[in-house]
Parts: sequence; structure tokens; C-alpha cells
Amino acid sequence: MKVNSNYFNLNESYLFSTITAKINEFSKYNPGKDIIRLGIGDVTLPLVPIVIDAMQKAVLEMGEAGTFKGYGEEQGYLFLRSAITRYYENKNVKLKEDEIFISDGAKSDLGNILDIFSIDNTVLIPDPVYPVYVDTNIMAGRKIIYIDGDINNDFLPIPNKETKADIIYLCSPNNPTGAVYNADQLKTWVNYALENDAVILFDSAYEAFIQDEELPSSIYQIDGAKDCAIEFCSFSKTAGFTGTRCGYTIIPHELKKENASLNKLWLRRQTTKFNGVPYIVQRGGEAVLSEQGLLQAKNNINYYLENAKTITGVLEKLDIWFTGGKNAPYIWLKCPDNMKSWDFFDYLLNETGIAGTPGAGFGKNGESYFRLSAFGKKENMIEAAARLENIGAKA
Ligand code: PLP
Repeated sequence: MKVNSNYFNLNESYLFSTITAKINEFSKYNPGKDIIRLGIGDVTLPLVPIVIDAMQKAVLEMGEAGTFKGYGEEQGYLFLRSAITRYYENKNVKLKEDEIFISDGAKSDLGNILDIFSIDNTVLIPDPVYPVYVDTNIMAGRKIIYIDGDINNDFLPIPNKETKADIIYLCSPNNPTGAVYNADQLKTWVNYALENDAVILFDSAYEAFIQDEELPSSIYQIDGAKDCAIEFCSFSKTAGFTGTRCGYTIIPHELKKENASLNKLWLRRQTTKFNGVPYIVQRGGEAVLSEQGLLQAKNNINYYLENAKTITGVLEKLDIWFTGGKNAPYIWLKCPDNMKSWDFFDYLLNETGIAGTPGAGFGKNGESYFRLSAFGKKENMIEAAARLENIGAKA
């Protein structure tokens, strides 16, 4: 008997456990000093009222013989897939209901999609990036190459002629950098994928944060993308569903490789290994996409973006380089005085009681950068901004 030895190639992730340990240590030696946590990648506002109403109604339906639901429709309930097609119509993207697969969030599908691709494919992953793309491919034993995001390309890497890859991960708005690709940049990626017979896995989990109407919030707003891209989205950050769990993956019928429809392969995979998202939760997802639901969800997003503005205002004042925070809940800053990410973490915590996330935890290009998250309470952001202003003088 042998285990999957690829797991031995995974880097142990000490990022969040080290952060917690350092915060605990700080609290021990500084009793009574309140710590402001700007490292959280999780939403903090509760579900909006219309979602709660819809889910309560669905719970009651489950208790009545006439409306009780057992296993749901294979790709997710049609009411939710139809609501998603209408949501995309507002982005000028036409989708068919059977191009949409309801999921329990973007993370599982981003990993599971690899089931339908050969192990021989080369994977291209931007650095820095959400670590799930790297780890899922290491687990499978696939060859990974990286494309550098850095200050010169505003952390939005673009392929060049020498880049040779079959599967490409793109995340826009980006975690951890908060950077967002514009239409021309995404067009370059789509052209690259079409010319190289590659597939783009487009993670749009943070699309609802995009304020600038010129910026694409779906890759299908780019001509040719339906022939080369799969899109992964989620209600997690759009409407606070991180604990409720609902998302969706879009595979257009046009997308074919070796004459096989990727939509059909994924349908086969999902019907074999996945039994769907609870009816109650899918009703909650449908409520998010109603007119009222979108307004309520937008209020929460605006709250987080106001938080981001409070922080970026101080960074501007202190003349600290940063990206993100305008169309994303993350702010990615250059550590002052070229400090290393972890040194800045210690410095910030000790001087101000603010805990963020060291950029080095997201890839080698994250070294000497730092992520601050806007998920949190307004009062805390105002207090954090005041404390940051003080360190400006010292740093
Ligand atoms: N994609 C990115 C870039 C993320 O940052 C996250 C979560 O933080 C996810 C996907 C996962 O989201 P979900 O809760 O839908 O699984």
C-alpha cells in the first residue's frame, strides 16, 4: 500500500498558524492592548435580510410533504441557474442555463476541475497568488511554472512569446494584491490561450467589488473567452456566504479540447462525485441575485470599500506604495524601508497592535510586501488608520 507521495512535496503552510502564535505571544506580554486584525480574508457582516427570509421560507418548505426536496437537479436548481444567466445579462454576457454548475463555493471547484485534465499538462500560476492553485496541482503531481507579478507590472503579469503552458490560473480582482486586469490585458491572455490551445481558469470570486465600469468582471466580456476559459465564482465574498457555501462554475459549450466538450466532462465528473448544494442555500443564492438582494449585498460591499479607503488614505499620506483597495477588499503595500514581510509584521504588531498578513506567504514575489484586509468593523479601520499614521513618522 502506498500513499500519494505528491503530498510530501507540499510546503507546510505556517502562514496563519504563525500569525496566530505571534498575536498570542504579543497579547501575553501586552495585556489589555487591543489588537486590530487586518489579516482576515473572511467577511464579517451578517447575511442580508432578503437571504435570511428566503432561507427561512425554504426551511419551512422542507418540513411539508408537498414541498419537501430530496436530491436536487444535477447542475443545481434551474431557478438559481436562471438567476445567474440574468445576472450575466447585466454584464452583457449571454449564458445558457446548462453552462452553469452550482457548487459549494469556488475553492472546491478550483481544485476539483483538475480531474478533467491530463496530468501531462503544464500549469501556469501567477506569483503571488491564492495558494490553492499551487497546492492542488502539487497534490496531483503536475508541472507548475510561475509568471511574475511585481511592482513593474502592478502585480498584473502578462504572458510573453516564450511562455508555454496548457492550464492558466488568473484571479481578478486578485487575492492577495487586490489588482484587477483591464479588458486589454485580459484580451492578451485570451489571445495567448487561443494561440497555444490552453485553458484559462478564471477566478472571479471578488468580482462584486469592482466599481470601475470599464474593468471586466467576467472573462466572457472578452471576445473569444468562451472558446478558452472556465469561470469560477462564488456568493462567499459577493454576499457573505463564506459559512453558508454556494458558488458556481461556468463552462461554455464552445469550450472543446481534443474534440471533447469540457462542459460534458465536468458534468460527468460532478454527477459522479458531487451531490449538490442544499436547496435552502440555493434559495438564499437566488435571493442574492434578486433586485433587492443585489442592493442589500452592495451595501455591505460599499461598507468594506469605505474601510479600504480609510486605510489607503493613510498610505497615500505616508507615500507608501500600494495597489488594490479600490475594486477589491485587499490592499497590497510595499513594506517601508524595504523591510521583509515578517519583519514588518512584527514591527507593525509591536508598534501599533495591528496584525496584517505577510506577503511572503503568497509566493516568492510577495516578499517585502504586506496584505491588509478591509473586512472588519468601520470603528476598527478608523482606529487602525490613526495608529498607522503614527508609525509613518517612525518608519
Ligand atoms: N478564490 C479566491 C481568490 C479566494 O480568495 C477564495 C477565498 O478566500 C476563494 C476562491 C474561495 O472561495 P469560496 O468560499 O467560494 O470557496
